Amino acid sequence: MKKLALHWKILIGMVLGIIFGFIMTSVDGGKGFVTDWIKPFGTIFINLLKLIAVPLILASLIKGVADLKDISKIKKMGLRTVGIYISTTLVAIIIGLAIVNIVKPGEGMSVETKERIEASFATSADAMVTKAKITQEAGPLQALVDIFPKNIFVSLGEAKMLQIIFFALFVGICLLLIEEKKAKPLIKFFDSLNEVVMKMVDLIMLFAPYAVFALLANVIIAFDDPEILIKLLAYAACVVGGLILMIGFYMLLVKFVGKKSPLWFLKQISPAQLLAFSTSSSAATLPVTMERVEEHVGVDKEVTGFVLPVGATINMDGTSLYQGIAAVFIMQVIWPEGLTFTNQLIIVGTALLASIGSAAVPSAGMVMLVIVLESIGFPAHLLPIGLALIFAVDRPLDMCRTTVNVTGDATVALLVAKSLGKLHDPKPKNWDDNYDKVK
Ligand code: ASP
Repeated sequence: MKKLALHWKILIGMVLGIIFGFIMTSVDGGKGFVTDWIKPFGTIFINLLKLIAVPLILASLIKGVADLKDISKIKKMGLRTVGIYISTTLVAIIIGLAIVNIVKPGEGMSVETKERIEASFATSADAMVTKAKITQEAGPLQALVDIFPKNIFVSLGEAKMLQIIFFALFVGICLLLIEEKKAKPLIKFFDSLNEVVMKMVDLIMLFAPYAVFALLANVIIAFDDPEILIKLLAYAACVVGGLILMIGFYMLLVKFVGKKSPLWFLKQISPAQLLAFSTSSSAATLPVTMERVEEHVGVDKEVTGFVLPVGATINMDGTSLYQGIAAVFIMQVIWPEGLTFTNQLIIVGTALLASIGSAAVPSAGMVMLVIVLESIGFPAHLLPIGLALIFAVDRPLDMCRTTVNVTGDATVALLVAKSLGKLHDPKPKNWDDNYDKVK
């Protein structure tokens, strides 16, 4: 398998994982086998990725900012990044709302189907509503307060992305403000740390084809009512169709603004996309996204170190597109009187905020959907029923929207780099570049 490109190996792992999952669903004791003996390898892989995410952000951002040698460039990069992120998210929500209003997947669902779905997923939906309540209880400026850490070691330990980014920017700027002679040792330290962590990404990725096998086999055994999936096909097709359009939109940006071939770009970032799909977590995928965009697309460290971690946290175009569609779909089924133009405008605003507020972990988008629905006065007693309606297909849709979230972040990194003159010929590194010398 040595000569095969990484994305092919991962794809083969995914396909075999799906087939294995289906076989195990029909074998006696198969589900238990997957949970006890296969799933843990997926968990180990995700843990390893999370393990390196924090040192990677810290090192690449501090080194990157210190290398910029110009504070005004940081401001420019920050404003551009946030500006483009908000614009792409708005495009995503508008695409989602247009599709769901044209296709109307929620109209004509029979009462039995509705009741059956409600009965199967009511408990899980209740849990989502409770989680959303905790987020909602915070004050309006809490999100801003949360960016400023009071103890960086706690932030590092809890992987609080925005706090770590703030700290890294702060250190990087101060490194620029002190004497060069004094700044050098610390910059060198972070440069070296960055190289080490990038090498770790290469090594961990050797394990990726096996890990995705485990992750997907586990996803398959978790489905237990394929009939419900078929009933929700029109809704799921709207979300997937919207997500595909969104990828098309990114590719136009890559071609006409980034001046790169879309196919080439997709090939370079494909391992990150496949992992996003397999893990349903942009946060877990982040180290791989950073490695691919930096080494394989050719974006400078200072851009990837800032744009990608910020993107993983606040830019979720796939999630907001999904929230727009899901909110309207639920209304079409159980609250058609709420389907006014004003309410849909409110959804545009709240889905944008929800994309910023959603955590980059599985199912976060569904929790934030509660807040989107409440913003339009959705009757509280119907909320668990609404969520129950879409619960059955949430995992596969989560996988798809996370892929779009990660693609969006990578695209914006390319655009920001291009606009700042920070895009160069890529120089991919392999895990064994130095191996001969040390083996
Ligand atoms: N799982 C998504 C992510 O990590 C968030 C969501 O839409 O649930 O990007």
